[in-house]
Amino acid sequence: MNGIKLTDNLNSENNWKKFLTAIEHFSDSSTSHRILPDIYNDGLNVFSKLPQYSKSALFTLNDSTPEFQIRIADPNSDNLFFNDLYNHLVDSGHIGIALDTATVINVNVGDYSEVGGSVLVVPIRKSRGINGIVLVVHFNDSEDFNQLLTKLCSIFANLLGNTIENHVYMNEIGHAKTILEQKIATRTLDLAQSRREMKAMFDSVLTGVMVFDLSICKIVRVNPVACDLIGLKDSEIVGRSTIDFLRFTNYDDIHEANGVPLQQYYDSELMLKNGKTLAILRNTTKLRLNNRVLITESFIDISKIKEAELALTKTNELLELKVQERTEDLQIVVHKLKQEIIERENAEAELLKLFEHQKELAELKTRFVSMVSHEFRTPLTIIKSSAQMIDKFNKQLCDEEKEYYCHRVIKSVDNLTDLIENVVFIGKSDANKLEVKNVEINLKQLIESIITDLRVGMNEDRNFAVNIQEGLCNIISDDTLLHLILSNLISNANKYSDSKNDIIINAEINNDILMISVEDFGIGIPDEDQNSIFDLFYRSKNVSTINGTGLGLAVVKESLSKLGANIEMKSKLNIGSEFKVFIPLYSKMENE
Ligand code: ADP
Repeated sequence: MNGIKLTDNLNSENNWKKFLTAIEHFSDSSTSHRILPDIYNDGLNVFSKLPQYSKSALFTLNDSTPEFQIRIADPNSDNLFFNDLYNHLVDSGHIGIALDTATVINVNVGDYSEVGGSVLVVPIRKSRGINGIVLVVHFNDSEDFNQLLTKLCSIFANLLGNTIENHVYMNEIGHAKTILEQKIATRTLDLAQSRREMKAMFDSVLTGVMVFDLSICKIVRVNPVACDLIGLKDSEIVGRSTIDFLRFTNYDDIHEANGVPLQQYYDSELMLKNGKTLAILRNTTKLRLNNRVLITESFIDISKIKEAELALTKTNELLELKVQERTEDLQIVVHKLKQEIIERENAEAELLKLFEHQKELAELKTRFVSMVSHEFRTPLTIIKSSAQMIDKFNKQLCDEEKEYYCHRVIKSVDNLTDLIENVVFIGKSDANKLEVKNVEINLKQLIESIITDLRVGMNEDRNFAVNIQEGLCNIISDDTLLHLILSNLISNANKYSDSKNDIIINAEINNDILMISVEDFGIGIPDEDQNSIFDLFYRSKNVSTINGTGLGLAVVKESLSKLGANIEMKSKLNIGSEFKVFIPLYSKMENE
């Protein structure tokens, strides 16, 4: 206090008491100040109790700019005066000093015309910095007075500054509190609204929902749909376990999936109040909320779908049965139809065969008629003309000439006999009337007799080279058939080759098979006719005027088949032909 004793001065100067009492009063009522202008007013009121007081004003910092602005002035003054005084003190540097040093300074402003005394520049301090300035105009400028005044003013300025700051803080705190309270109220409302919405949503879900708290093993929430399905009230379900209501429930192995379904929808069963079960489509999810593990079971009634499925399965089974029956019926019909088709095809084939046969028969008939008309007429004409010659010119004819005509008659009759024999043979074979009769045959004699018969009526001389295997004498076979085979082959070889060329006949036995070949060097058989020459009445195109019936080789073929024998034929056009027969021989005769 710079050596000044306050109490002494207070005692000596009774006037200070008023100021101190005002400070004391201000201090006591500082907590009851409600609004800032009241504090400003009370503050100025304290300063007004200073001795020699004239007037005062309070400046505070502007909210938006860092400048001091007048807040309140003594009622017996006006703002304009203090604004001018303030500007004067700013210009004189006193405001700057007071702010920089944060101390009260007393400025003599005697030169300042309107005041004519002193001004106390009192910085109002807060905890950090200055938040206002009070300018107090007074009339006493003595040294002691000034020092004491300055100190008291400084103390009160601190009190006023703190009071203002506290008030501002209190205001701010109050404001913040209000905002906080408002926020809490809003949040509380939101929360309540969210809860209501959540409940509404939970209750309005069309699927049954149960929330099971795994940590306490109890159902904590159930929605109306689930209650309806089970047939129990909310209160009768909550607190129990899901095992009581959901079949196939086991949470032992479930892993944490936090909201993701543990299993996509799966078939399950809901156990109802009435003891029955209901087919459901179920979905289970696990959720961790703070320290709680919640299992949400949601499910829908699929009993109708299951019934429909069952009905569908039954219908399908019935349909399948029917289809099976129909298929079997159809198979039977198809089988019958196939049979019918086969029968028809067989009948058609038969008809075709018959038709072919008819055609063949018609062809055979044509060929037979042409053969008969030619082959029968020629010998008959020869016989008739020879007989007429002998009859008419018997006396004029010499013996040789008579013999010639007789031979011609005999040869023609032989030809006719052969022809008839062949026709009869074919007729018999067609009627299956041929019988095989094995007898002992002298092969050499048989071949020679055939050649001898052939030479009768033959004009030219012809050489037959007959080679019979040495030791091959008598054989056992059917002599009629063997005769027919050999006579036809040898007669053809003779007919279709020039008499200048030999006819080679070979016979040998190999493994009980008699092989006889007849080879000529004649006109040969064209390739295209080779497959048909064994057919009845068939004749090659190259036979020209050579007589024939087309019966011979057919007789050979038939005879061979009776004997179980085979034939091979090699022929080249204009070079010659060779026929080889292979006849299995019998070691015994038929009657032995
Ligand atoms: P054909 O009385 O006409 O001789 P075949 O049945 O004996 O009747 O013979 C059928 C046909 O086979 C003959 O018309 C002939 O064209 C042919 N043929 C048979 N043998 C011979 C052969 N040795 N040389 C040439 N052609 C032959």
